[in-house]
Amino acid sequence: MKTKLTRMTSILLAMLFLIAMFPMQALALENGGAGGSEAGELQWICVSGTHSWDDGVVTTAATCTGTGVRTFTCTLCGTTKTENIAALGHAFGEWTVTTEPTCGNPGERRRVCANDPTHVEVEVIPATGVHVPGELIPGTAATCTEAGTADHYVCQQCGANIDGEGKIINITVPATGHTLVPTAAVAATCTTAGNSAYWTCSECGKYFSDANGETEIAADSWIIAASTSAMQTVKPRSQQTAGSLQQPDTAGLPSRKAMTSPTSS
Ligand SMILES: [Zn+2]
Ligand SMILES: [Zn+2]
Ligand SMILES: [Zn+2]
Ligand SMILES: [Zn+2]
Repeated sequence: MKTKLTRMTSILLAMLFLIAMFPMQALALENGGAGGSEAGELQWICVSGTHSWDDGVVTTAATCTGTGVRTFTCTLCGTTKTENIAALGHAFGEWTVTTEPTCGNPGERRRVCANDPTHVEVEVIPATGVHVPGELIPGTAATCTEAGTADHYVCQQCGANIDGEGKIINITVPATGHTLVPTAAVAATCTTAGNSAYWTCSECGKYFSDANGETEIAADSWIIAASTSAMQTVKPRSQQTAGSLQQPDTAGLPSRKAMTSPTSS
């Protein structure tokens, strides 16, 4: 009996020795290891550093900014280990202009992450500072009293008045004021009319009684009649004939007879 037991023990020890000599997978036999198996069940436990890891599974997915976790399991003993998966980083697409910049106002563009559409990058596009001229608007001439406008363009983006190079300009051309030509006063005589002094605008043709063109007057209002009344006082009475007196003009008046005729009613 004792001899048989000793022989069996020797064989077992020899087998263990051979297994220990196996270079790749040195295994130890343990009774009820800590690997979670039921008590009393025999389980192979890998010697440290000799696990046979599988390809692993992603147990926590990496995000754009957060690391993930991959868990590997030993195909021999079931032991697990984890490795971090590096953060993916954003995968932004092309920029899309959401608001075009104008001459005076900044615009905006944005791009979306392919990994997570809630990751949106927004960027301000500076105002161009360049006005956009429309059609040429011909100017209007200033007059003596009314302002005119210069040739100009209107910016299609901000409505400012600009020149051909896109610079903001003041288009108002001030009124010219009258161009006054003086006429000196001439005293009336017995036979010739005179006139008071007046000024004529060579541009608009209006007349004024003052050198500043402030008081406009009607044409010929400056005429001073010849002094004929002086002639009449010296005219001999004998030359004033009664025949020269004209009868009152009664044409068009109804006749007395027609107004009083009793037969008319
Ligand atoms: Zn193992
Ligand atoms: Zn992202
Ligand atoms: Zn503009
Ligand atoms: Zn004038």
